[in-house]
Amino acid sequence: MQILRETKLEGLRLARKVGRQKVLEILLKKKLGGRGGANFPVAKKWETALGVKADERYVICNADEGEPGTFKDKFILKNNFETMIEGLLIAAYVLRAKRCFIYLRGEYDYLREELEEKIKEVLEKSKMKVSIEIVRGAGAYICGEETAIIQSIMGNRGSSMYKPPHPTISGLWGKPTVLNNVETLTCVPQALVYEDWNPDYRLFSISGDVNHPGVYEWELGVKMSTILDVVKPREKIKAMSFGCFGGIMPVKKSSSVSQETICKGNCQHGAFSIIFIGERHNIVDICLSIAKFYTYESCGKCTPCREGTIRLVNLLKKIKSKKVNEGDIKLLKEFAEHIQETSLCGLGQSCGNHILTSLKYFKKDYMRYIK
Ligand code: SF4
Repeated sequence: MQILRETKLEGLRLARKVGRQKVLEILLKKKLGGRGGANFPVAKKWETALGVKADERYVICNADEGEPGTFKDKFILKNNFETMIEGLLIAAYVLRAKRCFIYLRGEYDYLREELEEKIKEVLEKSKMKVSIEIVRGAGAYICGEETAIIQSIMGNRGSSMYKPPHPTISGLWGKPTVLNNVETLTCVPQALVYEDWNPDYRLFSISGDVNHPGVYEWELGVKMSTILDVVKPREKIKAMSFGCFGGIMPVKKSSSVSQETICKGNCQHGAFSIIFIGERHNIVDICLSIAKFYTYESCGKCTPCREGTIRLVNLLKKIKSKKVNEGDIKLLKEFAEHIQETSLCGLGQSCGNHILTSLKYFKKDYMRYIK
């Protein structure tokens, strides 16, 4: 696997040798984008923070992967953490940052002692005068969002803030702050060191109705038939859900899996977590379960999301009770669209994706409940 290649501080040595500007040029040329979903060029993000006049800058590693069905960052933390720390140090070097943070998902706290040991070892070897502090998240889904992480690290309640200003301009304690996730930072030294590093190799978290769930690495554009051959479905697969937030679409063996094909299907690939859904499931049940998750995780700061997520659950429950007509399905769609358009952060803006895409592809499952 490309992501498991170790760089043993060779990337950091190279970065210091060629200088900041050259590092940015290489990362841009190698097309390294953020692996959280947006694929925004890493070099551009770093360049923006570097361009802000400030006496201090910070780097945060987002290790708070809370998306249901996503576990690829945990895989890296366990199997190639030293390379990730090296990526963090390269970011600190480029940004002239003296303090770095790893915002660790609360559920991964059992890894913490081991991670702290490794941080100490790598820091000693690197001889860099930088601190790396692990901050434990308390389990809120919303704290995977960058402004919420920043609030949480500063000791405030972890909730999203309006943007702009973006954290690269004004983040932790009002200073320019760069956030990258575990996979992105691990790719930094790998992209610098290995000539043949390929930006299209991605980690996929696979779960659901398959015999071999787990973390896999495939090149974007991989055929769905290849994926299914490897993960071995337990039954005929009818759909795939991209975590909770990315929507639901049908599975076609002949299709390929890439950013383009997923977006074309009105879904969002995010961090490439695929939950396979077998034939025996009614998609309305899956949507209800996802809607309950959103209701639970809504931070309550803005009205459309706070109130709307509850309405979506109630409407889906009503549909399941078979006491509805087609007008309720229309209302469900309108609610989902309205909440997405008017919510403050990514949670509310994505909470209707599963409903809207399931209505597009699996309306039959809804119609079963209509009188
Ligand atoms: S969209 Fe939801 S999670 Fe985001 S700020 Fe509003 S209430 Fe909180």
